Amino acid sequence: MPQRFPFTAADAAKAPVFKRRCAPEHEKFHSSYHTHTMNLAHLLLRAARAHPHRLALARGEQATMSFAELAIHCAALAGAFRHRLRLAPGDRIALFMNNRPEYLEVMCAAWWAGLVVVPVNAKLHPSELSYIIEHSGARLVVTDAALAPAVELAGNRRATLLTGSPDWYRMHDDAPIDMAEVRPETPAWLFYTSGTTGRPKGVTLTHRNLMVMSLGYFCDVDSIACGDCIIHAAPMSHGSGLYILPHLAAAATQVTPASEGFEAAEIFSLARHYRGATLFAAPTMVRRLTAHARAGAETGEGLKTIVYGGGPMYGADIRDALDCLGQRFVQIYGQGESPMTITVLSREQHADVGHPRYAERLGSVGLPHTGVEVRILDETGRALPAGTVGEVAVRGDVVMSGYWCDRQASARTLADGWLHTGDLGRLDEDGFLTLIDRSKDLIISGGSNIYPREVEEILLTHPAVAEAAVIGRPDPEWGEQVIAYIVLAQGSKAAAAELDAHCLNHIARFKRPRHYRFVDVLPKNNYGKVLKRELRQIAD
Ligand code: AMP
Repeated sequence: MPQRFPFTAADAAKAPVFKRRCAPEHEKFHSSYHTHTMNLAHLLLRAARAHPHRLALARGEQATMSFAELAIHCAALAGAFRHRLRLAPGDRIALFMNNRPEYLEVMCAAWWAGLVVVPVNAKLHPSELSYIIEHSGARLVVTDAALAPAVELAGNRRATLLTGSPDWYRMHDDAPIDMAEVRPETPAWLFYTSGTTGRPKGVTLTHRNLMVMSLGYFCDVDSIACGDCIIHAAPMSHGSGLYILPHLAAAATQVTPASEGFEAAEIFSLARHYRGATLFAAPTMVRRLTAHARAGAETGEGLKTIVYGGGPMYGADIRDALDCLGQRFVQIYGQGESPMTITVLSREQHADVGHPRYAERLGSVGLPHTGVEVRILDETGRALPAGTVGEVAVRGDVVMSGYWCDRQASARTLADGWLHTGDLGRLDEDGFLTLIDRSKDLIISGGSNIYPREVEEILLTHPAVAEAAVIGRPDPEWGEQVIAYIVLAQGSKAAAAELDAHCLNHIARFKRPRHYRFVDVLPKNNYGKVLKRELRQIAD
């Protein structure tokens, strides 16, 4: 099937050609569409009005659509969802796709039509996909040719729409509809948690939540200039997909890599091509970028900002990344329940090497976002003073409205109007938050608390250790015993005794691992998070 809008970045630069294609159509926006400002699709409409000819979407170096074209497409696709497929406002659409431009089209069209998107991690097992489809009650599953077999294996009983199919193109010719009016508290995105414990839960994110998250990006994370772009190399079902929104608001180009995933060489090359590029990366991805840059003498030309988060960034790794790629890093701490927006460690704070507490700050996740309150609570829900470890609690307009169809879990997690994150941390006197660990990962051995992250940080300072994951294994005598899973650096050797001596030199005796398991890889989910649940299972 040919591309519907086959112009390249070079064509886009030749304004007259580009303008002739777009001008007559985009004029429609000035007359016929009726909007409600809280609908997230309004970000697209506004970008189309302000910058109709600017490049909105690209796949690799191939330009796909201008903002005017994207808005027209989405209004037509929204019409097809509502009238051809008979979906009603509030219905859910599951997206099971790799990172492609169509991801964005479907999301915006769904919001335009007043529907709710359910982006599903493309690496999930068909049985997990099946659970999410059923639990969310999705009426339509949108997928691509590569993932269609998995949708079939999932035994999908709902309608399936294949991007790139004749039906897909036909829908773009349907009559555009007016943007649905939605209330701020209307659900926009069901974000299924990564399920590192138990069944995934459907975090219900409203239009208000995601609008506030988008505005928070401009307050605290970064500015986005005319002509900038975001490279969606991390999964669009998660952080990268959420960052579609602030980049729509700024009319920046959204680039999905041709590989549809995370390839370090491709990212550097795309950044050089587009310039002003932003990337959301999990800490493991930052490590891969740094290794690639060192090996290939890449300088990160064109890469404006790397926003990292979604899991612990070890001190050694961020220092290495800053040393290799320079001051282009911003750290965010968030969770599905308060998407991308709890705290932020800014570019300036990464660069403030002369600050007396620089090392501490680099090991922290920064200050609460504008408009977000953070507290540390004890087990009874009382606020703890600075310097004391407890559960991180969050309040603000970005916090989810609850879990989809799970009142009990919602009431537990949102008790007293605060989001109980399940993360352990402490605030310092200046308000910077340091995360200690997930409360579920805490190891209690011989009555003492051991934070796996602290032990992992020490193990990672040994030159032979590439990756480390520490867990607790039930033990009749101690309650739990500390076990370390180690991936050795290529070509390196280290025996358990050597690592034990290294730990004894740096941390209290009772915290050191009692057993070492040397493995080739650690089990990780699609977002690069180590699946400690799996390690605990094999440690038994
Ligand atoms: P998810 O809901 O899948 O995005 O997972 C959120 C969890 O990832 C949080 O509750 C934290 O445990 C962890 N996390 C997110 N950002 C960071 C960060 N910057 N540093 C450490 N852990 C993080």
